[in-house]
Amino acid sequence: MKYDTLIRQALIIDGSNTPGYLADVGILAGRIEAIGDLATVAAAHEVDARGLVLAPGFVDVHTHDDTVVIRHPQMLPKLSQGVTTVIVGNCGISAAPVSLRGDPPDPMNLLGTRAAFTYPRFADYRAAVEGARPAVNVAALIGHTALRSNHMDDLQRTATPDEIAAMRGQLQESLEAGALGLSTGLAYASAFHANTDEVLQLSEELTAFGAVYTTHLRSEFEPVLEAMDEAFLIGRHAKAPVIISHLKCAGAGNWGRSPQLLASLEQAAKTHPVGCDCYPYAASSSTLDLKQVTDAFRITITWSTPHPEVGGRDLQDIAAQWGLSLMDTARRLQPAGAVYYGMDEADVRRILAHPLSMVGSDGLPEDPFPHPRLWGAFPRVLGHFSRDVGLFPLHTAVHKMTGLSAARFGLTERGEIRERYWADLVLFDPLRVRDVADFKEPQRAAQGIERVWVNGVLSYSEGQANGQRSGRFLARSGALGGGFSSL
Ligand SMILES: [Zn+2]
Repeated sequence: MKYDTLIRQALIIDGSNTPGYLADVGILAGRIEAIGDLATVAAAHEVDARGLVLAPGFVDVHTHDDTVVIRHPQMLPKLSQGVTTVIVGNCGISAAPVSLRGDPPDPMNLLGTRAAFTYPRFADYRAAVEGARPAVNVAALIGHTALRSNHMDDLQRTATPDEIAAMRGQLQESLEAGALGLSTGLAYASAFHANTDEVLQLSEELTAFGAVYTTHLRSEFEPVLEAMDEAFLIGRHAKAPVIISHLKCAGAGNWGRSPQLLASLEQAAKTHPVGCDCYPYAASSSTLDLKQVTDAFRITITWSTPHPEVGGRDLQDIAAQWGLSLMDTARRLQPAGAVYYGMDEADVRRILAHPLSMVGSDGLPEDPFPHPRLWGAFPRVLGHFSRDVGLFPLHTAVHKMTGLSAARFGLTERGEIRERYWADLVLFDPLRVRDVADFKEPQRAAQGIERVWVNGVLSYSEGQANGQRSGRFLARSGALGGGFSSL
């Protein structure tokens, strides 16, 4: 047999943002061995893919799957969407390098309880991922808040020179061990008090590695443009590509400003590599943040440590039942998680459609009542936004979750269907693909995802993970790929 697997007569949408073409694909030893007319060749496994699209496996560039890839390595919420690589460590929070003195500070608690944090060095985390053999590939950022929590007794202030030096040492060691870059979550109270200079100094470690800077901006509300400027300043200082996490116009007073945000992004892109990720929903989700409590839009509680019984209920209902204000109710629920219906659909669409934006789920795998993006983000872009709404062609939707993403994060030999690239592949039905998870029933697998291969191994088919787990840890592989700086 010349190939391990032959996928016959699929419409190949190769991730490069060009229209599809019909061809056969031969897989051998984990890689794409041949693309073309392979009608006369046989293989151990053959798949008739007529009527289906074959795309590169999706790269979920924005996840909080840090510890779940080890504790629940089957990764069904992601695999069932066609995701074959997750990037962890976003928003300033990472599982490594972390040495906790108590419970994880907010929002590190999104990654699990204290028991989940057992990786004092990044190399320990990498070894744990390799040992767990998750079903998807894993690449990792180092969280600024995680570094702060390692070296500071009080997160409500900026770091001292000694603390910054200690954080820099840990960041450098982690980059040497294969981390992709640094992430910050400056909006969160645990990092908000870090001044720009603290991040600027830390970011200097990125330069020698060509590593990336990703950021959950200091504000996604009215001061969002100033927050973007801060991110660009840091990136230019470090000569590090900038990726703005889940770009959005948050809060009713901010709706309609997406053209300004995108103009700012385009302006910065003229002289520096910048981009953003976003998830395809007009609601956000995180820990319950008192600063975001408002009666201007709906807020749903997803979990609460003191009141687990209220998961899935609206904050307003709970407040009415308890006879308390929204703020007092929120205080009583903490620590807790929430979904905020705080975006405008037109802004979401404009940002999603922009050439500089990638798709990332921002799914929260620990949440007992998660935002549906955890199970639905990628099929929602393919089905709802591309096919049904017509926001962009299917090959552009695929590009935003494959080729663009791999180039931005420097994942070499992934993200496109090309000979000798790794065989991370998803076969889907372009007429049937759709997200099924919604805010009422958020834990439901998408429809229309027919088969998923990870490093050449068939890992998901007929609506089920088949128990094969062939994901790898993806270390930063040096200089970033092309296509970064151009619009
Ligand atoms: Zn975030």
